[in-house]
Amino acid sequence: MSVRDHGPSATGFYILQPIDGDRVWGYFADALPVRAEYAPPGGRGVCPGCRQALGSCRWRLPHRIELSKAKYGDFVWGAGIDLLMSAKALDAYRAAGLTGIIEIGPTIEVVRVGSRKPEALKNQPPEYHEVIYRLDGADLDDELSHARRETVPPRCKVCRMNMDSVKGVFFKQGSWRRADIFGALGLPGKTVITEPFRAMVLREGLVGNEIVPAERYWKYREPYASGFHLCDPQDPGDSEVWFPPERNLPVVM
Ligand SMILES: [Zn+2]
Repeated sequence: MSVRDHGPSATGFYILQPIDGDRVWGYFADALPVRAEYAPPGGRGVCPGCRQALGSCRWRLPHRIELSKAKYGDFVWGAGIDLLMSAKALDAYRAAGLTGIIEIGPTIEVVRVGSRKPEALKNQPPEYHEVIYRLDGADLDDELSHARRETVPPRCKVCRMNMDSVKGVFFKQGSWRRADIFGALGLPGKTVITEPFRAMVLREGLVGNEIVPAERYWKYREPYASGFHLCDPQDPGDSEVWFPPERNLPVVM
């Protein structure tokens, strides 16, 4: 297994996630920041409603990590980290002319892989960088996406930083800012990519990730398993809320 791809999306959008949606204990290595210090949130956009900086605290330099195992993906997730990409993935992203990444951190120092120093391993980790992308790249259509936010109601109706569940990811008409990788208002903690980004991942053979068509992405309240379900329109239970094809039109043409 290298990349898990579920085929084309009717809307042109996809969720990029660790395989099975698990940020830790996954098939590929996850990253743990070492002796990390954090700064207030910033640099990922500002909520037009409450004017608060979007996203979590920023990871200060220097960037040092432990990797959980010597099975290296081109996309790496971890606690306290938005997303890491390998130098190979970043080169492919640039060569493809994709957009959305607004900051690329310096080379990350890998201080440990599993229980070992990386120098002791035959299989050396690739060069990794933190990537920062905007979190206001689109605005979730709560109604179409069956979004529920009851457990901890969000303080702001615009950024909606709390989410219990969604059944499908659909954006409000005209809200997409045309980036190829982004986060969306109302969809906290999720990375969205476009068809050209997915094509780049598949063409270059980038590994360590799962690509889910946005309209088939169902998310349940954590901490139950990974909280992720791939909607199957043929399944009677799923098809109750599955939208007919005419509802799956691209949100921006
Ligand atoms: Zn807000």
